[in-house]
Amino acid sequence: MSRGSPPGCYHLPAMKPRRPTRPIFLGDERVGIVQVGGGLPRKGGWTPPQKWIPASGAATTPAPVSVQTMTAGYTHDVEKCVAEINKLAAAGADVVRVAVPEKKDTAALKEIIPRVRVPIVADVHFHFQRALEAVEAGVHKIRLNPGNINDRAQVIDVIQACKARGLPIRVGVNEGSIIERKDKERRKQELGKFFAGHKQGHLMALMVAKLEEYLEIFYEQDFYDVAVSAKSMDAAFVVDVYSAISERFDEPLHLGVTHAGPKETGCIRSIAALSALLCNGVGDTVRISYANDPVYEVEDGLELLYCLGMRERKGVDLIACPTCGRIQVDLFTLVQDVRRQLQSIRLPIKVAVMGCIVNGPGEAEGADVAVFAGDRRGIIYVQGERVANVPEEEILERLMAECRAFEERVQRGEARLGEKKVDIVPPDPIGELGSGFDKIAAGQVDRVTTLTVAGRN
Ligand code: SF4
Repeated sequence: MSRGSPPGCYHLPAMKPRRPTRPIFLGDERVGIVQVGGGLPRKGGWTPPQKWIPASGAATTPAPVSVQTMTAGYTHDVEKCVAEINKLAAAGADVVRVAVPEKKDTAALKEIIPRVRVPIVADVHFHFQRALEAVEAGVHKIRLNPGNINDRAQVIDVIQACKARGLPIRVGVNEGSIIERKDKERRKQELGKFFAGHKQGHLMALMVAKLEEYLEIFYEQDFYDVAVSAKSMDAAFVVDVYSAISERFDEPLHLGVTHAGPKETGCIRSIAALSALLCNGVGDTVRISYANDPVYEVEDGLELLYCLGMRERKGVDLIACPTCGRIQVDLFTLVQDVRRQLQSIRLPIKVAVMGCIVNGPGEAEGADVAVFAGDRRGIIYVQGERVANVPEEEILERLMAECRAFEERVQRGEARLGEKKVDIVPPDPIGELGSGFDKIAAGQVDRVTTLTVAGRN
């Protein structure tokens, strides 16, 4: 296991080790404590009140990359806000951020925080008083935007309030709110030279310069419990700017592509940037942002980390073929139905739903529970053993029954995830048989052997 891997996870050779950072800690014993970053000692000649925050100079190890999101509703609507936060936590969010544009929003935090079980971040823009009120209300972290809270005395007030409570702060610059509208052309020419040759070099320089300038205030106050973000809607620019920041700062990085758009395209935009950075060891917490229900942000953020082997999967790993001209069942509908019904299973069971005999047996062999189809029927396997051959209309019900039964066997200790009991020997050749169903029906496809597989029984 490479440096920075959470227990049980791995790094592919193509992935670089996590960049070490000074960690921050947010939450409390009731909602849980989330560490972001790590690998470098904490810094600062003062002791936070929380006993779980390591002393200055103490060694730390990197925490698994966490997943954040933000509520879409009004914070001052307490009932709806609590319900939304709890829904996001149930979906797997490690941290939830809320907007606090008005005093009634920070006032609502006092009622909201005791009713949720996930650390809450107050997102503060323009009014530093909202940060002070949020700290008083018991929030777990503050986010400040240097683009709109830049009065030095105000920033120091927020730092001191957080320091007194042992709360971290995220300094988040955004492309949209950092562009200097005065002297725009002169600034562009001045800053362009720092990343000469980059088409948006001046913007990158501006974001780095703003961060340096802003963080200097924090360092002067002996306050280092800071995370940093520098978001843009341009995925390639996000990769470049975070890479530049990762070389200059020790703070953990909150990754995100801002204003990514609707889920359908925002997903590609976000994953393109975030996976490039994470594979390069850059990034300690992620927020995918969509113009849609934030539950999707959590689900896709987690899926990204699962796919990169950076988090241990909590729910089912569903694989399915894209279908082609060989398909003989309504696989798209089946996959969607299976996906929906599998959401109740909390074990990382690998389930394969395959369209035909070409790749079906191979995937069935590697999955815990699998079905491959042919001629309006489905052959169902559990860890390589054929358990059923059912007509199309019974595939869903039977497959789900096998998944639930397998889950119960794992919970009782009677089965182990990822264990292959038998090798499936597909018929050969299959070419002239089309879907191969003639051989399936003849019982030839599910000829199995009980070969011992190296490392397994
Ligand atoms: S498994 Fe069969 S149906 Fe699915 S994509 Fe492959 S060849 Fe086509």
